[in-house]
Amino acid sequence: MPEGHLDHARPTPTWHVTVRPPARRPDVDHPEVVAAHMWRLGARAVVDHGGTIEGQFAAPVEVPAAWAGWEVATRVEPATDHMAAWRAGARSVRAGRFLVVPSHLADAAGPGDDPGGTGGVDTIDGADLRIVLDAGMAFGSGHHETTAGCLAALDDVPVAGRRIADVGTGTGVLAIAAAMLDADRVVAVDVDPTAVAVARDNIRANDVEVEVTRGGTDVLAGRFDGVLANLLTGSLVDLAADLHDCLVPGGWLVASGASLLRVDRVVDALGTAGLADVDVRPGREWAVVVAHRPV
Ligand code: SAH
Repeated sequence: MPEGHLDHARPTPTWHVTVRPPARRPDVDHPEVVAAHMWRLGARAVVDHGGTIEGQFAAPVEVPAAWAGWEVATRVEPATDHMAAWRAGARSVRAGRFLVVPSHLADAAGPGDDPGGTGGVDTIDGADLRIVLDAGMAFGSGHHETTAGCLAALDDVPVAGRRIADVGTGTGVLAIAAAMLDADRVVAVDVDPTAVAVARDNIRANDVEVEVTRGGTDVLAGRFDGVLANLLTGSLVDLAADLHDCLVPGGWLVASGASLLRVDRVVDALGTAGLADVDVRPGREWAVVVAHRPV
């Protein structure tokens, strides 16, 4: 494990702020508006619990005037050692051709060995591509349905020898997967500096080549044969045209992060942006969308 690989997880309290805005109207999508406010206020994560929006912050938040009259609640979760929590709960996850192994389990065993008895899987199929991940504070341990769905979707799109971009790389998991599938070039971006640091460490630990930059689609130079984007519904809608423009004609987009309830909005936005051949793959709660830029 490279030096500093675990340095990003400092025990700090978390402020959970939940807001229940009025139901969505045709002209205003309040949950999306609140989510956008939360990101702007510096949220580390924003989750939509069926219309109640929860933001997780590293510091107390001043409630914006726009939320006046809405149900707002704050709960402070005492400092916990996130790495310890991740270790205690983390298991290896199989998705598509990949086996995503938490780094502490990988450390306990040699390459290809079963970590047995420590929460690992019983057997490791020789055909699996093994991604070792230290989630640190960044999203994307492979446990989330959206991440697993994107890894599985990589089975159905051409990657070897192609130029691939990963927008919102988090832990770097999808970018690492693309590199392991012999992509010609993989570029990963994330707006969160912690994610960039964690992704860089994970990329090094997996001994693959990925260029990681802090930013969004705006910092992606050039056109790509494939784009991975596991983001929130609102971001996918906002970025639909940019995602289209990142692709060469005939290129593919694998997008996730839209709940089943909201995936139609993503499909509409991608269609409006000019993407075609849009395939929705529903999971339990979330959908993966595969689309193509017409030739
Ligand atoms: N790709 C990983 C992580 C997904 S979580 C996986 O599939 O598991 C989404 C990530 O996108 C977060 O790390 C967040 O910081 C980042 N993000 C959100 N909006 C973004 C944007 N507009 N541009 C780039 N990154 C973004």
